[in-house]
Amino acid sequence: MGYWGHFLRSSLALAGAALLLALPAQAKLQVLASIKPLALIAQEVVGDQADVITLLPVTASPHDYPLKMSDHKRLRSVDLVLWVGPELESFLARPLGNIAADKLITSYQLAGLHWPDEVASDHQHSNHKHSGKDPHIWLDPRNAVLISAVLATRLAQLQPESAAIFRANAQRFAAAVQLLDQQLAQQLASVKEVGFAVYHEGYGHFVGRYGLHQVAYVTYTPERRPGARHLQELREVLAKEGRCLFMEPYYKAQGMEVMAKTLNLQIGLLDPIGEQQVSSYQQLLQQLSQSFLTCLADRRDH
Ligand SMILES: [Zn+2]
Repeated sequence: MGYWGHFLRSSLALAGAALLLALPAQAKLQVLASIKPLALIAQEVVGDQADVITLLPVTASPHDYPLKMSDHKRLRSVDLVLWVGPELESFLARPLGNIAADKLITSYQLAGLHWPDEVASDHQHSNHKHSGKDPHIWLDPRNAVLISAVLATRLAQLQPESAAIFRANAQRFAAAVQLLDQQLAQQLASVKEVGFAVYHEGYGHFVGRYGLHQVAYVTYTPERRPGARHLQELREVLAKEGRCLFMEPYYKAQGMEVMAKTLNLQIGLLDPIGEQQVSSYQQLLQQLSQSFLTCLADRRDH
């Protein structure tokens, strides 16, 4: 065999090796999470055994998002879709209607989820009806642990050779989150009695878990503008027992800063989906906790 023969053979061998190497990469499982918090949980479970894709850009509101053609394509091509449910991502209800049940985890429907007590919004006398329970379920760390366990089981069915890894990852995540949960409960105990209002009614799971004293919200969902009567009630309850008014990175209601100033309230910022430089689920919770601690702390003697 001459030079070219060797060249050809080694080239073919190389090409063959490259193909073999490429195959596992192409066959990697693809998990699509609707929003960043779910993607962060999924990332903990899959490790390097699968790819996690986040559908929504972090700057988008999960309550209302226009899907692009490329999004529809991705929804069809991935192995597993993890979302909260139509109660939060209503825009996904129709596109996901065509997807096989075994390719879908609807977190809102999982048995064993924890739900905040309904009394949290008793101070509100607005005339809107609560349509179901608070869908921001990832803000209770126990729910994140439940989602990770369900995800590990489902991934093990899809890729049995990685089952032990998925299970171990989920267990490690659960242990870390349980520890963090205890730490947050200790930290937040000092501000439990301090009244505050949130921008949108999306923190019930966190507020309920740590027994915080939410007295009102500005608007039910970010897209809805508060009415005059609601704003009047908000002002009254905050004047009586509020120290802090929490806004959100992408939503500004006119007049809120003015109201806060008039009532001598601190202004805080809450970021429920970890839009701001958060790279793990634990960080998302820590950041929320820090926001509460900072805004609710007593600063009168400073
Ligand atoms: Zn929300």
